[in-house]
Amino acid sequence: MKIATLGVGYVGLVTGTCFAELGHNVICSDIDEEKISNLKQGIIPIYEPGLNDLVNRNSKEGRLSFTTDIKNAVKNSDVIFICVGTPPKEDGSTDLAYVESASKLIAEVIDKHKVIITKSTVPVGTTHKVKNWIKENISIDVDFDVVSNPEFLREGEAVMDFMIPDRVVVGIENDRSKKIMEELYHGVVRTKRPIVFTDILSSELIKYGSNSMLALRISFMNELSRLCDKVGADIKQIAHGMGLDSRIGPRFLQAGAGYGGSCFGKDARSLVNVMETHGIEPKIMKAAELVNEEQKERITDKIKTTIGDLNNKTIAIWGLSFKPKTDDMRDAPSITIIENLKKLGAKINAFDPEARENAKKILNDVNICDEPYQAAVGASALVIVTEWNTFRNLDKEKLKTIMTDLNIIDARNIYDPIDFKDSEFNYVGVGRK
Ligand code: NAD
Repeated sequence: MKIATLGVGYVGLVTGTCFAELGHNVICSDIDEEKISNLKQGIIPIYEPGLNDLVNRNSKEGRLSFTTDIKNAVKNSDVIFICVGTPPKEDGSTDLAYVESASKLIAEVIDKHKVIITKSTVPVGTTHKVKNWIKENISIDVDFDVVSNPEFLREGEAVMDFMIPDRVVVGIENDRSKKIMEELYHGVVRTKRPIVFTDILSSELIKYGSNSMLALRISFMNELSRLCDKVGADIKQIAHGMGLDSRIGPRFLQAGAGYGGSCFGKDARSLVNVMETHGIEPKIMKAAELVNEEQKERITDKIKTTIGDLNNKTIAIWGLSFKPKTDDMRDAPSITIIENLKKLGAKINAFDPEARENAKKILNDVNICDEPYQAAVGASALVIVTEWNTFRNLDKEKLKTIMTDLNIIDARNIYDPIDFKDSEFNYVGVGRK
């Protein structure tokens, strides 16, 4: 099948590359000339484990190509994935300008039956809007179908999530597009991963429901961790005990510095906005967002309580990306925590295995180090903000020789407090006994 992706960000690049790996012919198109020029030379704009090899191999074997000629990509494809950004507006609503312009561009060149798929995360009702935008701007009488096929990939696990997904969700309006989607995902579904067909509106809401549910699980555990801090209980033991309940399960029960990234906050706020538009008071998601914002302040408070006056003190931050195994800094808790500490007069040394270059574009007056222990030199506290595996084995002897004060603020609970008992280190976790 001939596929075009409009947008070659995390979602467009992973989707296009993985469909090429499954034997389809894919043209990935984007308005960003630099991105496309780099991709043509095999330079991948994001850090995503396993993706580099797949892009290069499929490009070499002729199934995957990159272009800024979006119209040509659409013209030469049977199936078109809209993978453009859907950023938040000030009021939390979703900015659909990129989706609208992509739809109008499709309308200009469509000359035979095509399936147009919204893969971007879009508020309920948007796929029907896409249909209308195309209909209103089409100049010839040609039939087309729209489909909603939301993306559930996790950055850092994106290739695996595409190839072996928990499920593929597809919102359709007729049997013709259902058959095409079955053919498209044949390579994935043959691994016994379920493809769930729904109506279009329900498919769009499955995406928002899923992200919002995960966000509120995290916020609930963060709120519970505050009670743990007060009464001396341990949130890790509680998460373990709760997670063994098959009705609950163990995932997304970790207390920490709060969720970040380009999706959870944006999608939660968008759901709040859509509910309000429909006259529903979104009490639960509003609370989840509030707890998440407060959690970053709580980490700052823990640092303040531990050190006291932060003026001119050096703080080492380990981990800048919003989560491990990605270089994505969008909405990363590290940004808020670092800005808070700077306002209190602290000097920041920071290290991240992959996000250093992206961090330099966002963070001012932060000494971004090339090596983790370099960041800890002269530090009054070491703060773990992102749980990269490389941080899990701490060289305490080395830290003793380079830190000014031996304070560890473990904002992701990656260490066991017992490991610091009877040591010279002062360990502070999130809701840890
Ligand atoms: P991104 O910002 O990384 O990429 C979007 C790309 O679209 C950019 O390269 C931009 O230049 C391009 N673009 C904009 N208008 C265009 C047009 N008219 N034609 C062609 N290209 C155009 O975004 P992303 O992280 O890939 O997210 C895309 C969508 O997928 C969003 O709706 C997001 O919420 C959703 N999503 C993201 C993730 C994730 O982990 N990043 C996961 C699931 C869903």
